[in-house]
Amino acid sequence: MALTGLEIFKLLPKTNCKKCGMPTCLAFAMQLAQKRAKLDDCPCASEEAKQTLAAAAAPPMQLIKFGSGDNQVQVGQETVLFRHEEKFYNPTVLAVTVSDKLDDEALKKRIESINALQFERVGIKIGVKAIAVINNSASPDTFATVAAVVKDSSNLALILCSDSPQAIAAALAKTADVKPLIASAKAQNAEEMAKIAKENNCPLVANAESVEALADLTEKIKALGTEDIVLSLDRLPLSDQLRSFTQMRVLSLKKVFRPLGYPTLSVINDGDANQQAAVATSLICKYCSIVIIDTIEQHVFLPMLTAVMNIYSDPQKPIQVEPKLYAISEPDENSPLIFTTNFSLTYYTVESDVEASRVPSYILVIDTEGTSVLTAYSGDKLNEKAVADAITKNNVESLVKHRKLIIPGYVAVMSGKLEEATGWEVMVGPRESSMLPKYLQEVWK
Ligand code: SF4
Repeated sequence: MALTGLEIFKLLPKTNCKKCGMPTCLAFAMQLAQKRAKLDDCPCASEEAKQTLAAAAAPPMQLIKFGSGDNQVQVGQETVLFRHEEKFYNPTVLAVTVSDKLDDEALKKRIESINALQFERVGIKIGVKAIAVINNSASPDTFATVAAVVKDSSNLALILCSDSPQAIAAALAKTADVKPLIASAKAQNAEEMAKIAKENNCPLVANAESVEALADLTEKIKALGTEDIVLSLDRLPLSDQLRSFTQMRVLSLKKVFRPLGYPTLSVINDGDANQQAAVATSLICKYCSIVIIDTIEQHVFLPMLTAVMNIYSDPQKPIQVEPKLYAISEPDENSPLIFTTNFSLTYYTVESDVEASRVPSYILVIDTEGTSVLTAYSGDKLNEKAVADAITKNNVESLVKHRKLIIPGYVAVMSGKLEEATGWEVMVGPRESSMLPKYLQEVWK
């Protein structure tokens, strides 16, 4: 929790020597509290003051990274309870299990299927980010062999799941270079697991059956020298997990309770694919940082990933596409010209409906700062000048012979002024994008 000016003042030497450039220690303390000065500016500050202030300035929730290179993932370091207060920073990581009991062929197929769980939505790539190797065999050697195969066959981040310190150590001997997440340390094996995590510089999952036991466990692990910790409350019913994750998030952010100031992880291995997706989506909403799921059914991943995408997008900044002229299905000089705004959801809806029409077309995307058609029009971000400027800037007149512009039906009221500003004939298109195929096929011709 941030310290007040008076609390900082108590830590300073109180000599008023002015070496920091301030007339008094109190004035310097006030500047520090407002983050207008750095403690380094006081050459007389004690080690105790430096440590206390550094601890107070640390984020309430730790940032945890695992994986390597371009596929390193990071979770945690959230600052608010609710998205609309600011934004959430590090999206939930979806991981899929691989059992170390699979035979070679089944293992290969499963890894290939997981690698393929990548999608594109409104122009943004989303997908599974990690593979969790599960030590079902109870054999350290088998676990290590399968972990090595996964490492060599996938670029996704690795999670090693075993209660056996011997199995984790054996797997890390072959995979430590890609910095896996180790899951899990429990009260009975915490010392050995923390030692292995520290030696290999890997983050460690702490697993307990209650919030209180978890707080004790993280303190123990931290005292053993492992500071990169993820919290897990597996084996609790979903409702208890949600309640506990919420409680932990409140304690870490509002009370700066450091023993619970870490991201969270949950493993879902019950139920069919749809049930797992429903549980996972609930956990994504409140407040699970890493969700390990047991299915590879492709159709359930898009809803989960869409939930992550929506929750972790910045509420102040709509997702946008580049405002420019887009050519759909190789249009020519006789093809229709349609305009829309650069709000991603609007653009991609229009784009897919134009594609569905099988009428090659141009879509002129107007820069409306990522707002939809009606919002942009009512905020005067979509007006005749913006459209006329976009036509000129994108050199549209040299691409089509005709001078006809199809506008969204919702802004039919723009027609008169738009014709005056552009000299183009305005054709009022349908209100709903879904009617575009029929319009292009029957009205445009
Ligand atoms: Fe006080 Fe340090 Fe500034 Fe001197 S340099 S006045 S001790 S805060």
